[in-house]
Amino acid sequence: ESDSAPAGSPEALRILSEVFGYDSFRGDQGAIIDHVAGGGDAVVLMPTGGGKSLCYQIPSLLRPGTGIVVSPLIALMADQVAALESLGIRAAFLNSSLDVDEARAVEAAFEAGELDLLYMAPERLVLERTRALLRRGHVSLFAIDEAHCVSQWGHDFRRDYLGLSLLAEEFPQIPRIALTATATRATHEELTERLRMGRARHFVSSFDRPNIQYRIVPKDQARKQLMDFIAGEHSGEAGIVYCLSRKSVDAVAQALDARGIPALPYHAGMDAADRAANQARFLHEDGIVMVATIAFGMGIDKPDVRFVAHLDLPKSIEGYYQETGRAGRDGLAATAWMAYGLGDVVNQRRLIDSGEGSAEFQRSQRAHLDAMLALCETVDCRRVQLLRYFGQESEPCGNCDTCLNPPRTWEATIAAQKLLSALIRLDRERGQQFGSGQVIDVLLGRDNPRSAQSRHEELSVWGVGAELSEKQWRTVIRQLMAADIVAAAGEYNVLVPGPRATGVLRGEEIVHLRDDPEPARASRRSRSA
Ligand code: ADP
Ligand code: ZN
Repeated sequence: ESDSAPAGSPEALRILSEVFGYDSFRGDQGAIIDHVAGGGDAVVLMPTGGGKSLCYQIPSLLRPGTGIVVSPLIALMADQVAALESLGIRAAFLNSSLDVDEARAVEAAFEAGELDLLYMAPERLVLERTRALLRRGHVSLFAIDEAHCVSQWGHDFRRDYLGLSLLAEEFPQIPRIALTATATRATHEELTERLRMGRARHFVSSFDRPNIQYRIVPKDQARKQLMDFIAGEHSGEAGIVYCLSRKSVDAVAQALDARGIPALPYHAGMDAADRAANQARFLHEDGIVMVATIAFGMGIDKPDVRFVAHLDLPKSIEGYYQETGRAGRDGLAATAWMAYGLGDVVNQRRLIDSGEGSAEFQRSQRAHLDAMLALCETVDCRRVQLLRYFGQESEPCGNCDTCLNPPRTWEATIAAQKLLSALIRLDRERGQQFGSGQVIDVLLGRDNPRSAQSRHEELSVWGVGAELSEKQWRTVIRQLMAADIVAAAGEYNVLVPGPRATGVLRGEEIVHLRDDPEPARASRRSRSA
């Protein structure tokens, strides 16, 4: 809608400049604000950093009464409110961190019409007591932030969001605006339906973040690769490093610190005070690297994060996009860097298979992971793939690793057949299944005690893969696993033929794989938004 979007009404522009100190609206902001201020419902899909907050804050100031902001991020409410108060906006929050007297004072202020904005978590809003309070006062609008949390098959489901559908029935005359930075078609439809936004106008922004350079490198020695990346390209700059486990968060933070890169850990296993202290230092000091689990970052507004690095594979493209989206919110060049390897595929598949949930849930998680793997293994522009996932077509960007350094591909059908044959021979003739290390030794014809004991050298597949190096075989196995041609099974992650193995063995399916480019550094190009 950007082309036809009006710049915002004169009153909206006046508040933008007088209260917030900005001189023009970005993207759809003006149109959204006019629509909601005029009493309309809106569904807003806008990337992280796009400026969603103003879309409900300004209408709250334009309309009589208090704007109720529903957010799952209790930990951030105090900061958000403090920031608004510093602009002279009358804001408050209601959550479990307040004692009874404090909460009463906020409720009284709301009833007396003394608040422009009131933040609360969804579990609070759905209480009958809270709804009675809202009916006694005067609500100008409901803003439902992080609205994708209502999507059950999404990556961030929160049960309490389901209760928000009652707003449509109980407060039909009050405008509602649902906002999210997650924009797959499925999530969009689901949140529209579940929040009963049937009459809403939809504002879908471009999800491109042109100033972010996307790079995904094959994992070799992840920590060393990370340190080289930071030291080489982002020395002295603020960044976020995401790891899957608390243990690796602590270890990586220490390793960076030991290399002279100021780094702090952040994960749910730390006590709240330490976590808050680290977060505050990251926000207020220059050049701190936050090493964190994905518990960190939702709602963090630090404009000058220059890189986001992943040492473990995210579970979905939504997650990857949201996490990388925390880089470069100021529009200046930033890097989204990830190291990814065979172990990531194995681990994530296993997490899904051993996880809780219905078969349907597991299938949806698998589909999310497969899309993420396809992004990692693509030989095409990363940005094109990423945006296509969100339903937006684009041209190759010239600013991602595959554009800057196009990977070569090769026909690997025979290599795949050799690998599958080795798995089959080992199983049939020796009753054995192995992890990738031992299988590669067989393919290379490389002696080791286990092979000697099992007389692997007598197998027809012994040494048939000597034309590739061990490293190349690892790359091949990772890609075949991502493509479901081989799979990992059992407690020890032994390799077995995958669902698509038969077609490959019969020669009905041709396999093309990428040559992992040498770890040459992709050149930096600034593409300011
Ligand atoms: P989102 O919630 O979409 O991630 P925010 O609302 O936190 O984004 O806004 C991101 C940053 O952009 C904030 O620092 C905000 O102050 C700034 N911003 C938003 N709108 C404008 C604008 N029209 N002009 C200048 N800066 C803006
Ligand atoms: Zn590209």
